[in-house]
Amino acid sequence: MAFEPAATCPVCETVLAPDRRLEDHLCRTHTQLELAEYIVFQRDREEIETRRPVLPGVPTEEATE
Ligand SMILES: [Zn+2]
Repeated sequence: MAFEPAATCPVCETVLAPDRRLEDHLCRTHTQLELAEYIVFQRDREEIETRRPVLPGVPTEEATE
């Protein structure tokens, strides 16, 4: 039987113990509101990325102050 590597929660970025399922973590640790906000955040981010494509050669960080 394949042993799955430790999962990382996409909501709080906690690395789960190898015997913990992500589903259990999400249900026990996070509220429905937190999960809903995460899903909405992901959806909004995807819409923004598809709406405004990243131009080639544009630096990802603003180093100037
Ligand atoms: Zn979490």
